Amino acid sequence: MADLAPCLLVHYAEIGLKGRNRPLFERRLIGNIEHALARLATVRVRRLYGRIMVELEPGSEPAAMARLGRVFGIAYFAPALACAPEEGAIRSAALQVVAGHGAASFAVRAKRADKSFPLSSQGLNQTVGAAVQAATGWPVDLEAPALTLRIEVVDRRCFVYCDRIEGRRGLPVGVSGQVVALLSGGIDSPVAAARMMRRGCRVSFVHFHSFPYTNAASQEKVEGLVGLLGRYQGPGELHLVPLLEIQRHIVGHAPPALRVLLYRRAMIRLAAEIARDLRAPALVTGESLGQVASQTLSNLTAVDRCSPLPLLRPLLGWDKEEIIDEAKRLGTFDLSIAPHEDCCSFLEPKAPATRCTDHKLRAVERDLALEPLLAAALAQDQRRVVAPVEEAARGLAE
Ligand code: ATP
Ligand code: MG
Repeated sequence: MADLAPCLLVHYAEIGLKGRNRPLFERRLIGNIEHALARLATVRVRRLYGRIMVELEPGSEPAAMARLGRVFGIAYFAPALACAPEEGAIRSAALQVVAGHGAASFAVRAKRADKSFPLSSQGLNQTVGAAVQAATGWPVDLEAPALTLRIEVVDRRCFVYCDRIEGRRGLPVGVSGQVVALLSGGIDSPVAAARMMRRGCRVSFVHFHSFPYTNAASQEKVEGLVGLLGRYQGPGELHLVPLLEIQRHIVGHAPPALRVLLYRRAMIRLAAEIARDLRAPALVTGESLGQVASQTLSNLTAVDRCSPLPLLRPLLGWDKEEIIDEAKRLGTFDLSIAPHEDCCSFLEPKAPATRCTDHKLRAVERDLALEPLLAAALAQDQRRVVAPVEEAARGLAE
C-alpha cells in the first residue's frame, strides 16, 4: 500500500444483518461492484471487516463514484485516503483530506473495528483534532460541526475521509434469484423492475408488440429502457413477443369491454412460459391499485387467477406522483414519456370493464381457444441481450 492511497470505502446496507448468509451476500456485492467498475482503469476491490475497499487509479474517482451510486446493497461510500494505522500517517492523511475544505467548525470521529490499534478512539480524536486545528485554525464543535473528519481503523488499515455519499441501499442484485418483468414503454413498469432489482432480483424482460400496427421505434424504446435499467444490474435479457394475432382474434370474437383484460391474461401466460424456460419463479408488472380501469382490485385478481406463477406488483400501493419521482431518480422518466405506440392503447375499448371475474373471462377464453395463437407467438419470440447504456453516451449523468 502506498503511503497515502486514494480509495473508496464502501459501507453496505442490510447485508450486515443476514447472519450465516452474510459471506454469500458480501461476495455478491463485491462481484457486482467489480462488474460495475469493470470498464474503468485498473480497480481492485477488497473485502475488509464489514466494509469494502475499492482501490482506484487517480482520476477515475468521479466515474467510479457515479457507478457505485447505482449498485444496490450499498448504504454509503466515501472517497477516502488509506494509510498505515500509525499516528503519524493518520495525521498526514487527515491534513491532506481537510486541505480541500473550508469549515466554520469541525469534529473528528474515529472508529476502531481493529482493536489492536494502540490508541483509543478518543485518543485518536484528540491527537488528530489538535493537528487539524493547528493547521487550519478551525474551532472544534462536537455538537454540530460544519465538517466531520472520519477515521476508521479496520483490518490493519486506516481510512480518513470527510464526505459520505448515500448509496441506493437494498440488497445486491442476484441474492434473491431471478424474475421476469413485463415491460411496456410506459413509466411504471421500468420502476417496478428496478424495485425488484433493489430487493436483490436479477430481472429479465418481456415486451409485447403489435408490429406492424405499432412501429419498430416502440421496440427500440423498450430496448433503450432495458439499457438504462442495465446500469443497475448489468446486461439484461429482453424478449420481444408479437401480440397482434392474439389481439385481432380477441377483437373479432370477444366483448369489447373485456379486451384489455384478455390481452393482459394472454401476456401473463406468455410471460410465464418464458419465465419457466429461464427458471424464474415469479413475474413482475408495473400495476398500481386503481390507477386505471384494468387495475381495480377485482380486475387484478381476475388476472392473477390465470397466472401459473406468482404475480409481483411492487408498485401496488404507490401513487402516480411517487412513481414519476422514482422514475426520475432512476433516469428512465425521459425515455418513458417519449411518444410511443402501445399495443394495448390500439384496439382499446371505449368502456373497459372495471369489475370482471376469472369465471367470466375463463368462459370467454374457452370459446376463443387461444392456445395455438399463444404457441405461435412464443415461437416468434425474439431474444436479445441488451448492454447497459452509459450515462455519458446519453447525457443522463445524475
Ligand atoms: P406502464 O407505465 O408500465 O405502461 P400503465 O400504467 O400504462 O403501466 P397498463 O398499460 O395497464 O398500465 O399496464 C399494466 C402493466 O402491464 C404494465 O406495468 C406492464 O407490466 C404490463 N404491460 C402492459 N403493456 C405491456 C406490453 N406491451 N408489454 C409488456 N408488458 C406490458
Ligand atoms: Mg402502459
